[in-house]
Amino acid sequence: MEYLAYHDMLTDLPNRYSFNERLIALQKMAKRENKKFGVIYIDLDNFKFINDTYGHEVGDELLILVAKSLKKILRDSDFIFRIGGDEFVVILTDIKNKNDVEIVIKKIINDITKEYNIKNNIFSVTCSLGVAIYPDDEENVCELIKYADLAMYEAKKNGKNQYAFFNINIKNMLYQFQTVTNELKDALKADNQLLLFLQPRIDIEKNKIVGAEVLIRWNHPIKGFLPPNDFIPVAEKSDLILKLDSYVLNKTFFLIKEWENDEFLKDINLSINISAKEFKNINFINNLKECLNRYKIDPSKLEIEITETVSMENISYTIDTLNLIKSLGFKIAIDDFGTGYSSLNYLKKIPFDILKIDKSFIMDIDRDKDDLEITTLIINIAKTFNKMLVAEGVETKKHEIILKSLGCNFVQGYFYSKPINKEVFIKLVKSKELDFVY
Ligand code: C2E
Ligand code: CA
Ligand code: CA
Repeated sequence: MEYLAYHDMLTDLPNRYSFNERLIALQKMAKRENKKFGVIYIDLDNFKFINDTYGHEVGDELLILVAKSLKKILRDSDFIFRIGGDEFVVILTDIKNKNDVEIVIKKIINDITKEYNIKNNIFSVTCSLGVAIYPDDEENVCELIKYADLAMYEAKKNGKNQYAFFNINIKNMLYQFQTVTNELKDALKADNQLLLFLQPRIDIEKNKIVGAEVLIRWNHPIKGFLPPNDFIPVAEKSDLILKLDSYVLNKTFFLIKEWENDEFLKDINLSINISAKEFKNINFINNLKECLNRYKIDPSKLEIEITETVSMENISYTIDTLNLIKSLGFKIAIDDFGTGYSSLNYLKKIPFDILKIDKSFIMDIDRDKDDLEITTLIINIAKTFNKMLVAEGVETKKHEIILKSLGCNFVQGYFYSKPINKEVFIKLVKSKELDFVY
């Protein structure tokens, strides 16, 4: 029983539990004897592809072969673990410096990176490695393994099939990441730092603002206004994004409620962006229901935007979830359309109301023939499916003229207005002529 608990059945290597215990023991020893050890994270670059393409049996066999290679290379005093699917960790004990580690790493890469022939399937395998050294990089072993893992991601980011040592840049990035995470937690509690900006959606036929996309801004106490790209990717790394999405959701419901009895604002539709995590969150539908109960708004005033990429990840889940959203009365927009890989066959099955053409196509529509053709195509798709179409990123009169000639009447972009705060937006809606527009 004990053996099973500490070993991986497939490769017969010690597993994650062993790894954690061994690390603690090694740390004590190294500290006492004033020695160094290196932790190397190894991840196969294309394992998922191999598994999906050739089947699990081939994948399993590959893992066994990799384990064998590692055992062959390492000294008896070193340790190898399989800590997850295709993740291995090697601990090199009693090293003097980086060079000692580098020699072993090169051997590992040399041995693992090659062409394999498993059950008559021939394919190549490469791997990425990340290294952290005790105590040079860190004395706390929990941090140390995080550092080795981060170094491995650095190697992946730099193009895979290589290794990276933990370094000061990675450390700074980690520090920045943690700072933003902590500050964002405070901002969510503060209630006056995260602001809902609104970018008007315009009906060019009627020359009228018909809606707005809610885009979040962070009025940071020291750094000033930050765009979403500075903090959403950080929030997406943890469940913080769920808190952020829920914050935006509540504030947007509140706004719709507030505008309900205003003759100028009551017909304004608002759209919000839903992160991939929130879309997959089991509580997502409940969150929508709760807001609906709390604010009692007309749900058709709210559009839920999910990106094309997210919508195509798990089609049956997407169809079920979107159907639930629609049954509550909300509208659905497929955002950044054209950047993902929609199959028209799937698109046909997905319940949605609005297609938003990604701004990357609109920006060069007057110069790039391909972009013009893609946009025309997307407009025709929307027409065929009888959906509303919105073009994003309209920056010039030329863009507008082309879109109008193609039959796209709903637009959003800097040409009309950047995302603006609520007060400015209201003023804009209430100003009879949109003279700023032209
Ligand atoms: P998105 O949903 O594609 O939003 C459109 C982005 O294009 C916005 O950037 C908007 O300011 C920008 N934009 C609008 N018109 C133009 C134009 O004419 N030219 C150019 N170059 N850009 C234009 P922003 O506000 O920086 O937001 C970036 C992304 O952050 C959004 O992309 C969305 O994915 C995400 N985001 C923003 N707010 C939220 C939010 O409340 N929740 C979540 N989950 N994501 C959000
Ligand atoms: Ca959007
Ligand atoms: Ca978009």
